[in-house]
Amino acid sequence: MTETYATGTGTWRNWAGNVTARPTRAVSPASVEELAEVVRRAAGEGLRVKPAGTGHSFTAAAATDGVLIRPDLLTGVREIDRTAMTVTVEAGTPLKRLNTALAREGLSLTNMGDIMEQTVAGATSTGTHGTGRDSASVAAQIRALELVTADGTVLRCSADEHADVFAAARIGLGALGVVTAITFAVEPVFLLTAREEPMPFDRVTAEFDQLVAENEHFEFYWFPHTGNCTTKRNNRSAGPAAPPGRVSGWIEDEFLSNGVFQVACSVGRAFPGSIPAIAGMSSRALSARSYTDIPYKVFTSPRRVRFVEMEYALPREAAVEALREVRAMVDRSPLRISFPVEVRTAPSDDIALSTASGRETAYIAVHMYRGTPYQAYFTAVERIMTGFGGRPHWGKIHTRDAAYLSEAYPRFGEFTALRDRLDPDRLFGNDYLRRVLGD
Ligand SMILES: Cc1cc2nc3c(=O)[nH]c(=O)nc-3n(C[C@H](O)[C@H](O)[C@H](O)COP(=O)(O)OP(=O)(O)OC[C@H]3O[C@@H](n4cnc5c(N)ncnc54)[C@H](O)[C@@H]3O)c2cc1C
Repeated sequence: MTETYATGTGTWRNWAGNVTARPTRAVSPASVEELAEVVRRAAGEGLRVKPAGTGHSFTAAAATDGVLIRPDLLTGVREIDRTAMTVTVEAGTPLKRLNTALAREGLSLTNMGDIMEQTVAGATSTGTHGTGRDSASVAAQIRALELVTADGTVLRCSADEHADVFAAARIGLGALGVVTAITFAVEPVFLLTAREEPMPFDRVTAEFDQLVAENEHFEFYWFPHTGNCTTKRNNRSAGPAAPPGRVSGWIEDEFLSNGVFQVACSVGRAFPGSIPAIAGMSSRALSARSYTDIPYKVFTSPRRVRFVEMEYALPREAAVEALREVRAMVDRSPLRISFPVEVRTAPSDDIALSTASGRETAYIAVHMYRGTPYQAYFTAVERIMTGFGGRPHWGKIHTRDAAYLSEAYPRFGEFTALRDRLDPDRLFGNDYLRRVLGD
């Protein structure tokens, strides 16, 4: 994809098109040494520095008016260690390249999100996650990390080396340094059987705990203005592989999920009154199906319809009540929502600023078709989510600030203290970090 670019006029734009920035210059270092030199030089010139991935964040996390570090030339697999069962990759490697390289070697990550366009450093820096009963976010699969800090030092961290840095830097928001390489845990490639099935809202919400407990990876989409959901259960399978047929896979993934949906969203944007009827049709268009394939082919799919998104992590036990409140709010309001609401889970993890830090988590994500006003909807949903102690995804639209977030994260102070130590002059600062972490 070529959504993100530094144009001739120097404008950087994110995937959704809702964030633009004008860096003083954009650079693409090709080695860790070059990158450290870029950092030292910018510091000497009094410019701020910001590494960007592929711009898939909806927040201005990667925006800068200083030196933009592009990931393009810092890519590829450095090492596969079959004894430790780890892979070390350059920070700018897109997840799709990592996934295909691992599959060729008979290996795989354990869990991942819905797409694989992002870079490994960009994805992990904001806590990108999929859904899992036992397996957590992409960052939770990190075993070691290498980063260039504000003084140009290359610092390696793991559970045994600079453990305090490791505890925070796996989800570092780009605030602690420029990640240059990541070592992930891997396992022998395995097969997952996906079972997709429509289910009424009342049944999914009544049986949510059981559906989560009985499946390794459970998620569902609820279609606003309807009582319909689509559920997806992914569980390990002994095989054999049975990928969706080329034609039926294309019809479901490309035509229905992307093509027809794109048209439906455009019609809905032009004629909002038609959205409830379209939602009813969309929610019935996807029929039950089952297929078995290697992990990244089951977890991820292309997302060609552009949208903006907000996602909140809630204590698991609050998810159903919160979702019911969202439904009641939509029903009471004049809002017309063409995009389904996605619900996923994660186990508790030990990363300071992980949205699942220290608590069993459920995620509720709301989307709006690009170009449609989203503020009224997102504001109303955000009010519900914050009422349940929700933590916003760092890479998705939200309005929270450091005062709120320091309450939502018990280990917030640990992160900011480390930031004070590693980047006292805020070389890696930007407006977004000032808002969410404070000065
Ligand atoms: C279509 C779509 C689907 C998505 N699906 C999911 C999903 O299923 N689950 C989920 O959790 N999220 C999802 N996201 C959100 C996305 O995964 C995150 O926003 C992710 O951070 C984007 O990665 P990126 O490579 O584009 O990084 P960017 O958005 O470019 O940057 C993100 C952050 O990482 C920092 N960063 C980048 N590189 C480095 C580096 N080398 N060192 C230090 N910091 C760095 C940046 O400074 C910035 O703070 C989705 C987004 C889109 C657009």
